[in-house]
Amino acid sequence: MNRFLVLALISTLFASACQSPSKERKVVFILLDGIPADVLESTNTPYLDEIAGQTGYTRVYVGGEKGGVSESPTISAVGYNSLLTGTWANKHNVWGNSIKEPNYDYWSIFRVAKEHDSDLQTAIFSTWLDNRTKLIGEGLPETGNLKMDYAFDGFELDTVRFPHDEERQFIRDIDEMVANKAAAYIASDAPDLSWVYLEYPDDMGHRYGDSPQMTQAVELADAQVGRIWKAIQQREAQHDEDWLIIITTDHGRTASNGKGHGGQSDRERTTWIVTNYPAPLPSFYQNPGIVDIMPSIVNYMGLKMPKEIEVGIDGKAFVGRRE
Ligand SMILES: [Zn+2]
Repeated sequence: MNRFLVLALISTLFASACQSPSKERKVVFILLDGIPADVLESTNTPYLDEIAGQTGYTRVYVGGEKGGVSESPTISAVGYNSLLTGTWANKHNVWGNSIKEPNYDYWSIFRVAKEHDSDLQTAIFSTWLDNRTKLIGEGLPETGNLKMDYAFDGFELDTVRFPHDEERQFIRDIDEMVANKAAAYIASDAPDLSWVYLEYPDDMGHRYGDSPQMTQAVELADAQVGRIWKAIQQREAQHDEDWLIIITTDHGRTASNGKGHGGQSDRERTTWIVTNYPAPLPSFYQNPGIVDIMPSIVNYMGLKMPKEIEVGIDGKAFVGRRE
């Protein structure tokens, strides 16, 4: 057999091993708060670069259709809920960080997973408690009393252990702890669907705007993601599992100084996705929205949902449907 044929055969075998239908498929999505695309692109992020490889980076938009019915404030909780539900604010009804009256008729990805198969293990690692209690809506009748299997969050409320300082070093410390726990728990327990949320970059943005402090916060977040990525690689090497990791942010920042957000300027609307998914659909490179992540996870895991939930989703998957 000639050398090229052998190589071709090996790569085919390798590809089919990677895509084996028998392997368990698991997903981690990570939200790094408040990092505009231009900031990410101009910061040294070796781990995000490694995860993205040649194909896994794209610019993304948030904020819905500018001037249209789905226009959504470029505010944190609004963006997180667009990620979770695959819908814009006119549907999920979260318009600000006070999260007054979410419309749980638009299911979060966690509810979709649990209704598909209640044995699927879910986890959240987060520097903000409301993500679980209000957005996911754990334990509420409106979410079918959805229960997360594992939660590591709420430390920002412990002002004895984490005294709140103006420099927001307590948030840096909590992010560090949250990321370390996520890496350790993924390595040991391999939940099927996990959300990791880290806040510190947004805090540095608000305090210092475009600045060395912001750059350092992004570098720190990259290292935190790197530890989670190592845990995933370890799982894949030692178990019959395929992992999808998606990293994104919830909004950009004001063009003038990078301190604020909430409006509809290009810089506030322009975000990004990093993923290890090797062959995204063409739409991935055609200005996808944050709402495209949820249906992509659905497709990757092969989740089924009721028709009335499916038709309400605004996003389009950039991951092909699992057979
Ligand atoms: Zn913010």
